[in-house]
Amino acid sequence: MADDLPPLEAEIRRLISVAGPMPISQYMAACLTHPQHGYYMTRDPLGAAGDFITAPEISQMFGELIGLWAAAVWRQMGAPENIHLIELGPGRGTMMMDALRAAQVIPAFRRAIVAHLVEVSPALQQMQRQTLGQIDVPAQWHSALHEVPDGPAIILANEFFDALPVHQAVKQNDGWHERVVVVDADGNLSLGLGSDPLPHFDPILREKVREASVDSIYEWRADSVALEIGRRARAGSAALVIDYGHIHSDVGDTVQAVGGHSFADPLLAPGLVDLTAHVDFQSVAQAVESMGVRVFGPVEQGTFLRRLGIETRAATLKTNAPPEKASEIDAAVDRLTGSGARKMGVLFKVMAAADPKLGTLPGFES
Ligand code: SAH
Repeated sequence: MADDLPPLEAEIRRLISVAGPMPISQYMAACLTHPQHGYYMTRDPLGAAGDFITAPEISQMFGELIGLWAAAVWRQMGAPENIHLIELGPGRGTMMMDALRAAQVIPAFRRAIVAHLVEVSPALQQMQRQTLGQIDVPAQWHSALHEVPDGPAIILANEFFDALPVHQAVKQNDGWHERVVVVDADGNLSLGLGSDPLPHFDPILREKVREASVDSIYEWRADSVALEIGRRARAGSAALVIDYGHIHSDVGDTVQAVGGHSFADPLLAPGLVDLTAHVDFQSVAQAVESMGVRVFGPVEQGTFLRRLGIETRAATLKTNAPPEKASEIDAAVDRLTGSGARKMGVLFKVMAAADPKLGTLPGFES
């Protein structure tokens, strides 16, 4: 039977048969970044023909405004002669490209930039090299943030954290049990619970989560990336994290699979559909703050983009555009800033972190 299975599913079943139930975080990691068969490793999932669409792919305005935000932050940093502009999970490289193009209006900033793209996927790295080949800025690629050299940095992450694996635990009468993937009596992959409660788990939970009712699900991510962002920010740098998620830690199962722009069963086609989970901004903020860094927001993406001047940017673009383009620009502004189904303005949140000596970052003025 194993011969007929897609290779990643065969591998996951083999691991379960030798090592027992697989924590959902390990399952998610395999689905997304298994070296040969992980979802991101071999394909471009973005755009209308792919599985999902992100803000930079909706409109050039998004990356341009982020580029101007970075220029303003660079000034607050004292306009250092060299700045690492780091992007985590850059997808097609569109946001970096648009940001660098916008940065041309501040030549000293543009000259100071070395772009660092942190990308685990060889296929997407290749695509980013093609995109950034069109612009004359030094760029380097890395597979993890800790590989980027130290020094003054502005770190950007759009829809990156949601792609990092989550652990899940389910509350039972005797404590919290890790959620695991098993092969059930019918031979299908299904969800189960680790047999013993997680040791010493309650004390690390926020009160609201600890007191949740039986069967509640709690999700968490490893803190390593947030701590590394905090370490760098503390040394005079800044970071911007944009994603969908919740402002306060809470219980709830947010793991979702998306293929061809619609929701799928996370266990049905491992490695063939995107798997994500909402970002717990409170946990990210807490990890970053623990490094001595100041956190801003989160604010809603719509608010943030309006404060950065998306309306003015749209008006400028429209003056040079034919009428059909003008209505596309209006639709993009609505999709990026509006509320309701398929709109990102309220669902997506923006959080920043910086060395306290930088002062308030643009877009977070109250
Ligand atoms: N920021 C882009 C793409 C978002 S998709 C956009 O907004 O369009 C998530 C991106 O993160 C992809 O580029 C994916 O390959 C990358 N990624 C996922 N897990 C990663 C990891 N552990 N380390 C580095 N990059 C990762």
